Amino acid sequence: MLNSLRLASRKNHPEDTLVDIGNNVVIGGKKISVIAGPCAVEGRDLYLEVARWVKKEGGHLLRGGAFKPRTSPYSFSGLGEEGLRILAAAREVTGLPVVTEVMDTRDVELVARYADVLQIGSRNMQNYALLREVAQTGRPVLLKRGFAATIKEWLLAAEYVLSSGNSSVILCERGIRTFETYTRNTIDIGGVVAVKEISHLPVIVDPSHGTGRASLVRAVARAAVAAGADGIMVEVHQNPDCALSDGFQSLTLEAFSELMQEIRLIAAAIGKALAAE
Ligand code: PEP
Ligand code: MN
Repeated sequence: MLNSLRLASRKNHPEDTLVDIGNNVVIGGKKISVIAGPCAVEGRDLYLEVARWVKKEGGHLLRGGAFKPRTSPYSFSGLGEEGLRILAAAREVTGLPVVTEVMDTRDVELVARYADVLQIGSRNMQNYALLREVAQTGRPVLLKRGFAATIKEWLLAAEYVLSSGNSSVILCERGIRTFETYTRNTIDIGGVVAVKEISHLPVIVDPSHGTGRASLVRAVARAAVAAGADGIMVEVHQNPDCALSDGFQSLTLEAFSELMQEIRLIAAAIGKALAAE
């Protein structure tokens, strides 16, 4: 397996890769980064309220989908360019960089005009044309693990971005499909540790999609940091019951504040710290 990972393997690149996002945000190394925000950008005022809260609590990047991959074609699928404009406004207000998903090669240029980091969603991890197109923007790429992808397939997807000349790849474990249905997905913590061993790329964990239950998110986030993840990505909403997508797995603002405190403690316990602290 390691032979095909020409660029992603630690064998040829022993030191950890640090991905520089700009705005003084760097992912990887001895620092823990927190990416937070609603599943989808739903409107300007709602988004700015969450963004300001994430900033106040010490979060490092804002998340929010403007182009949403929904299982049902009848579900809210995002605000499109208007959502991107709102993300840019939130960056302006908070100073935090923004990450958002791009699902289609035809939208890459548009999304790259607004976003600091381009997210490849789980459903598109093996969309090789999209991986190449996104890589060519030069923007950092957040590559989510396909929900049915092996570690090898995930790292080979990263290899597509790296071999297209873009070395700024952040891997994101977001749970895989198993026989279990109580949780939306099964978070592969052992896989995170394995990928950190095999590759020099930073790895973050998304306990929101990884569990599908808000009540489980904080504990799994703590476990991820304790296991050596370089950061977490969580969904946060001021009123999860009214969210247009993934409210059932979204933390309230207050729960997010508690999570930030918990992450500080776990990071300190393993000789790390939150980024920029
Ligand atoms: C997301 O993070 O917005 C998302 C859709 O997640 P995933 O691709 O992991 O399902
Ligand atoms: Mn979501």
